[in-house]
Amino acid sequence: MSTVAAYAAPAAGAPVERTTIERRPVGARDVLIEIKYTGICHSDIHQARGHWGKGIFPMVPGHEIAGVVAEVGPEVTTFAVGDRVGVGCMVDSCRACADCAAGLEQYCQNGPVETYNGVDRDGNPTYGGYSTHIVVDEDFVLRIPDALSLPEAAPLLCAGITTYSPLRHWKAGPGTRVAVVGLGGLGHMAVKFAHTLGAEVTVLSQTLRKKDDGLKLGADHYRATSDPATFEELAGRFDLVLSTVSAPLDMDAYLALLKTDGVLANVGAPEEPVSLNLFRLMLGRRSLAGSAIGGIAETQEMLDFCGEHGIGAEIELIRADQINEAWERILNSDVRYRFVIDVATL
Ligand SMILES: [Zn+2]
Ligand SMILES: [Zn+2]
Repeated sequence: MSTVAAYAAPAAGAPVERTTIERRPVGARDVLIEIKYTGICHSDIHQARGHWGKGIFPMVPGHEIAGVVAEVGPEVTTFAVGDRVGVGCMVDSCRACADCAAGLEQYCQNGPVETYNGVDRDGNPTYGGYSTHIVVDEDFVLRIPDALSLPEAAPLLCAGITTYSPLRHWKAGPGTRVAVVGLGGLGHMAVKFAHTLGAEVTVLSQTLRKKDDGLKLGADHYRATSDPATFEELAGRFDLVLSTVSAPLDMDAYLALLKTDGVLANVGAPEEPVSLNLFRLMLGRRSLAGSAIGGIAETQEMLDFCGEHGIGAEIELIRADQINEAWERILNSDVRYRFVIDVATL
């Protein structure tokens, strides 16, 4: 065991504060990572405030981790001391079920082990990246390409893969039209990916406030959803509508934007159940779908894609003592587009 510094929420709804936690000894197949940067995901706030059911406290959030390998176990073959690496939303899975065998560890039938607010194989709670070090099985460690800066790479581990995976699954590319709903942490990555994959990209945002940003990030069109003309003019237009917002959407209105066989995929989830008119699915054989992060192999593919195309997140670097303030700003949609903690300040 080693004692390391961390920021933790001591109880549901309490602000995070500096503390220390214990990390397990480096096992035969483990990698000890010196964390350099950790992105702040909206779900950190939900979980630390107990919005998604009972959390494990104290809670050390953070599942957008970028750092450098500090030590490896004797049986580690993929990584060496000094390698630039990342850790996303999972640190283990059962490795035995059909989904794990298919490289879909995020859908592990026995539940992937979440990077924080989870229970590790040894029965201990997992603690995330608001911390100086983490010990992770090498199979759940990702390699960060040299072309990417570590702070801009950190948010790729959740916001990046969460949007890359559905764009790939539903085949965004040349000749397809993709709408991205919401231009926040997830949405801005979705725009970059869909554009780089070759799709025609439209941002659908409440207002035109971030229009200049959206176009710079790669969108071809930018429309306000507060304007009813948007829904009239764009009816039947898209192959894929990717919703990144957690506010409840008018499903019928967004499904009407799909062409025949189009898909409305959700990666942001409202807390309340949604309702829809099933005729909207039947007419035009449309699909309503969801997607959660991505598997380990696909996450590495996404990082390599980012390295090749020079794609990183748009970030605002903060000190550890600004985390609580950053959470408030995220809740007020006041971030362009991801806060990243400089762990050296922790
Ligand atoms: Zn996340
Ligand atoms: Zn499994």
